Amino acid sequence: MNILVLNCGSSSIKFRLYAMEGEQILAGGLIDRIGEEEGPVQNHREGLRLILDRLDQDFQAVGHRVVHGGPRLHDPVLITKDIIAEICRYNELAPLHNPPNLAGIEAVADLLPTVPQAAVFDTSFHQRMPDHASTYAIPRFFREKHNIRKFGFHGISHEYLAHRGSALLGIPLAKARFITCHLGNGTSITAVAGGWSIDTTIGFGTLAGIPMGTRCGDIDPAIIPFLMEKESLTTSDISRILYYESGLLALSETSNDMRSIIKEASAQNPMALLALEVYCYQVKKFIGAFAAALGGLDALIFGAGIGENVPLIREKVCSNLGLLGIHLDPDRNGEVVGREGLISSPASRVKIMVIPTNEELLIARETKRLLSVEASGMTG
Ligand code: AMP
Repeated sequence: MNILVLNCGSSSIKFRLYAMEGEQILAGGLIDRIGEEEGPVQNHREGLRLILDRLDQDFQAVGHRVVHGGPRLHDPVLITKDIIAEICRYNELAPLHNPPNLAGIEAVADLLPTVPQAAVFDTSFHQRMPDHASTYAIPRFFREKHNIRKFGFHGISHEYLAHRGSALLGIPLAKARFITCHLGNGTSITAVAGGWSIDTTIGFGTLAGIPMGTRCGDIDPAIIPFLMEKESLTTSDISRILYYESGLLALSETSNDMRSIIKEASAQNPMALLALEVYCYQVKKFIGAFAAALGGLDALIFGAGIGENVPLIREKVCSNLGLLGIHLDPDRNGEVVGREGLISSPASRVKIMVIPTNEELLIARETKRLLSVEASGMTG
């Protein structure tokens, strides 16, 4: 069985075609700059058409990453019209992600109407978060009326990192206490115990926690009404500022992209240096908080674009964490770029690992599982 996995962003489609026997990658790539004047295609439907033209093998199903499943879509599902309508309801909570995720689903439905599609949610891995971690201290009336709680994101990546870390370190997941750091354009940190997320940095929407490429991370909520009043901002103005104009972009006044920020910082640009310091400080702070929440720590795992490729960030994050038994080996850290490896010193009580995250593989596995469940249901 072959499965095509799509991860549709606002201006890009990442794709990977798997032969599930042996989990072999048959093809993969990225269509980006979708909708840009100079870009290769103008919308996700055209992007998918381009991908299909490139593939010379057939596939039996498509699996999608969907960021926000809301309070009802917990586990991976085969996509129907009702599921699409439900995902649509959470567009306003994940405006950078759910609309393009849906655009990808609709493009497949349009171009390949008979191919089954599955949705795997970033929120799933966080579903078992205890109430004390997921409940916000606002009146219950609002929480219940609007399902306001911490949902958590990047769950597919955190789940992959935790499972892979458990296998590599030989620590059974049921017993493991891990902190998984998904440091990419979107960033979140998760405390994992008993095989599930028990707390994470993002959120109800996708703004909270560590500052991200263009998203603000944690700010004092008092800033929002204050700014709205002083600057006569509408709700869509403030949303635009917090989702698209904040984070590393606002701090560095250079770019939302870590590569450019590091380049500027090495030229001593003070705003780029500040952006790096704020980012690393926030990551470090949450590691401390989550080590306390877990009551101890077996491993600290770094993944995603920044986590996998930037030794400098890992070094800054891990510095002065001896109190928690975290000791980085600078040589190992410098050597591991873009690949899997242990980067803690032999004396470190906590193992520190880099694991290239692989959301696509997890989505492919879940899609296969859903198809076989459905097939067994039909024959049984
Ligand atoms: P992701 O969202 O996982 O694709 O990660 C994207 C982020 O990783 C961007 O901020 C990139 O600048 C950053 N990134 C990827 N590779 C590198 C690299 N070699 N050096 C510095 N930053 C990188």
